[in-house]
Amino acid sequence: MKKFILFFFLFGIALSSSFSQTITDNGPEAAGFSSERLKRMDIAMKDWVDKGYMNGGAALIIEMVKLPITKRSTILYSQVTADLIIRNGKIIDGTGNSWYHGDVAVKDGKIIKVGYIGDMPSTKTIDAKGLIVAPGFIDVHGHIEGGIINTPTANNYIFDGVTTVITATLFGHNTVRAQVMKRDNRSPTAAEQKQMESLVEQAMKQGAVGISTGLIYIPGAYAKTDEVSALARAAAKYKGVYASHIRNEENSAVDAVNEAINIGKEANIPVQISHFKIGGKSNWGKSDITLGLVKQAREEGWDVTIDQYPYTASSTNLGIRLPDWAFAGGNDSLKIRLNNSTIRAQIKKEMLEQLASYKFPNYSYAVVANYPADTSLNGKNISESIN
Ligand SMILES: [Zn+2]
Repeated sequence: MKKFILFFFLFGIALSSSFSQTITDNGPEAAGFSSERLKRMDIAMKDWVDKGYMNGGAALIIEMVKLPITKRSTILYSQVTADLIIRNGKIIDGTGNSWYHGDVAVKDGKIIKVGYIGDMPSTKTIDAKGLIVAPGFIDVHGHIEGGIINTPTANNYIFDGVTTVITATLFGHNTVRAQVMKRDNRSPTAAEQKQMESLVEQAMKQGAVGISTGLIYIPGAYAKTDEVSALARAAAKYKGVYASHIRNEENSAVDAVNEAINIGKEANIPVQISHFKIGGKSNWGKSDITLGLVKQAREEGWDVTIDQYPYTASSTNLGIRLPDWAFAGGNDSLKIRLNNSTIRAQIKKEMLEQLASYKFPNYSYAVVANYPADTSLNGKNISESIN
């Protein structure tokens, strides 16, 4: 069965502050309660807290009980009809606590209660039995910069449960390498390495949160492990993180995950492996190994984390299917190589070999998401596009 995750979009902290807000905004008159009735409810609430059956809501209740009576109103749950109650979910509240079974009540766009809710009436109820109910996710790896202008409501993120995006704060290895070494397919000289390290340090001082790599992309693919480790060390000096698009996500994925973890160890820096996956039919099932490596590193005490696409496929540019060496020197050099029949034949040979090694008969497994130069190709697979 497909698993769903329901999101409640506020964290516990936001919950208590928004609740206090509601309370102070509304006097008892607004809710139409007599002070006598409020007193009775006060006693009842204390009783609920003492009995402990308010669960996650208990802290809130205590907060409210502390408030002067005249400041209370909407807190009186038994009088409230929620707009939505998500019932029987496994609540993971985002504070790092273990999950617990509970309900979440929402009114006027705010969470009014988390925990055991009892028979509070509600306009709409969702049964989340067997499902996780969690606050919005934080996307540490958004490519939201351009898109947010076209879609300011960020629905594409919201529908995936992402409510916070961290953006433009990682300093890209490809950027720094291209700046110092252009698209050269070689290792840096000592001076170039030093220059790259000082660029990383400068970025960290200017507020970057760490360094990211794209080791399947050009020119990052030309970098050896020690180059990246040294740059990660430069970021670690300023408490940065190392976020990696690892070197290979297909036939050499195991080596690539090991490399990312080892860079973390060598540079003593937290590692975030981006878009964790296994590509290529021949590699299906290897995630047992790669996940095992991450688990083992974590058990040894290393800060290694991973994230995944919210979809099953991988998404990137088409050039990624050409051998790395073909791009050396930049796009002009690539064009020259493609126009040279001998080199072109070699590129084709390597592409076909790679395809065979993934156990795919052709490129029909890959679909064009967006090709601005000819949008009629959008939605077609690569084999269809060629014909
Ligand atoms: Zn990415």
